[in-house]
Amino acid sequence: MKHTVQVEDKEFEILLENDQISKRTRLIGIQLNVDYENRCPIVIGVLNGSFLFMADLIKELTISCEVGFIRVSSYKGTSTSGEVKEAFGLPDTLHNRNVIIVEDIVDTGHTLKFILEKVYQQSPASIKVCSLLFKPAALLEPVKELEYVGFEIPNEFVVGYGLDYNGLGRNLTHIYRAID
Ligand code: 5GP
Repeated sequence: MKHTVQVEDKEFEILLENDQISKRTRLIGIQLNVDYENRCPIVIGVLNGSFLFMADLIKELTISCEVGFIRVSSYKGTSTSGEVKEAFGLPDTLHNRNVIIVEDIVDTGHTLKFILEKVYQQSPASIKVCSLLFKPAALLEPVKELEYVGFEIPNEFVVGYGLDYNGLGRNLTHIYRAID
């Protein structure tokens, strides 16, 4: 197996092999099957980064569930925070539903905080977050809803298995960390 890969101007080395990711995903799936038995959750993936993790995770679920995707855009605006976010595609039918948000990675937690605020506005029965990766050292917003984590990783830039570097590398099978 090739252990390093070049994406644009950066070199990356393997951090997590696809086999490790699959095994961990299977275990999270088993846990969700137990925790959400007879609760018909709505599982919402955050695009683009979560698309491969979502596909693999959903295949592990044997419970009845609904599946959807949202997209969050952030751009510099004129608000006092300096950043304005928008959510696209969030269903408006989350009242009394058990919602599971699926993320590729939780870094500062800002994106998740924004999404959670939008979901809470609909008074769901419950909200939990499932993220493949989590960088505890980078977290600025505590996220009590973060219940399912694939891997805790160091505060380094990663690419592959859905995650991009300048739009590239999402198709890589493994997850790689930048070599500096
Ligand atoms: P947060 O709002 O938690 O700071 O950032 C979450 C989003 O930033 C993720 O969904 C992802 O798109 C992006 N992100 C954060 N860290 C990384 C990283 O190491 N690699 C890549 N490719 N994207 C990241």
